[in-house]
Amino acid sequence: MHRRLPVWLKKKIPDMKQVEETRDILKRLNLNTVCENAKCPNIGECFSRHTATFMILGDICTRNCRFCAVKHGIPSSVDINESERLGKAVSELGLKYVVVTSVTRDDLKDYGAGQFVDVINSVRRHNSGTKIEILTPDFKGDEACITQVVQNKPDVFGHNIETVPGLYENVRQEADYGMSLNLLKMIKKVNSKLVTKSGIMVGLGETREEVLGVMDDLRDVGCDLLTIGQYLSPSKNNTPVAEFITPEMFAEYKKLAEDKGFVVASGPFVRSSYKANDLFAVAKQTLGNNLIN
Ligand code: SF4
Repeated sequence: MHRRLPVWLKKKIPDMKQVEETRDILKRLNLNTVCENAKCPNIGECFSRHTATFMILGDICTRNCRFCAVKHGIPSSVDINESERLGKAVSELGLKYVVVTSVTRDDLKDYGAGQFVDVINSVRRHNSGTKIEILTPDFKGDEACITQVVQNKPDVFGHNIETVPGLYENVRQEADYGMSLNLLKMIKKVNSKLVTKSGIMVGLGETREEVLGVMDDLRDVGCDLLTIGQYLSPSKNNTPVAEFITPEMFAEYKKLAEDKGFVVASGPFVRSSYKANDLFAVAKQTLGNNLIN
């Protein structure tokens, strides 16, 4: 059953001129965003600020998570010019901070790791000083792939845990909770100073205790940044919302996570890439010398 939105989940109408400008740049350079493909509720707000989260390696995912609106099936071959165009888009949008994610590509030998490396290098070539946050799939836990990406030093390496382990079977069937934790652990093993980030959606039917358990697991693998946001079902074909978490509960989760040592963004509209530059700025102050750059 799809439920009516509570009042704290209403959004303001964005500046459409700016939104269209962003859309035009993305269309001209033939780039995908997770904002559009995952039907993110913040799209008006983010596009009107000329920010977007790029989704590389096509718009078809090889997995089929039940919470996600991205299409799934057999993806097309890797576009070797994508990284070049993405570097240009960052420059045209004037981004000082960019988030890049991808569909899951279990069909590729390197699970798409090489394309992340190309994108990091292209963004650096076209935009000196722009900070780069990547949000990757699990690369099936492949150590060589993870190492390759870490060695190219993104400013933040993110991988979302998405939900509590007890709900993986329902909503994230092809993923593995332990593998996701291990990926975050491996990043720190290769470079202990690289900032790591993860995100969890709430409102899928998890309990408070389970959320706290995920926080502990993430801290155990050295995860630095955490985002907590409301799950919103993108279509009637996706898992329905089990519960709307109140703003007060989000504030409590934030406090609890901070007490455990995370730098945290927590709120109904928080997504892992939502105002990622602001969270990074807080992290810089909090983590100081631990940052690689
Ligand atoms: S929160 Fe992230 S995914 Fe959503 S619109 Fe903003 S940049 Fe895109």
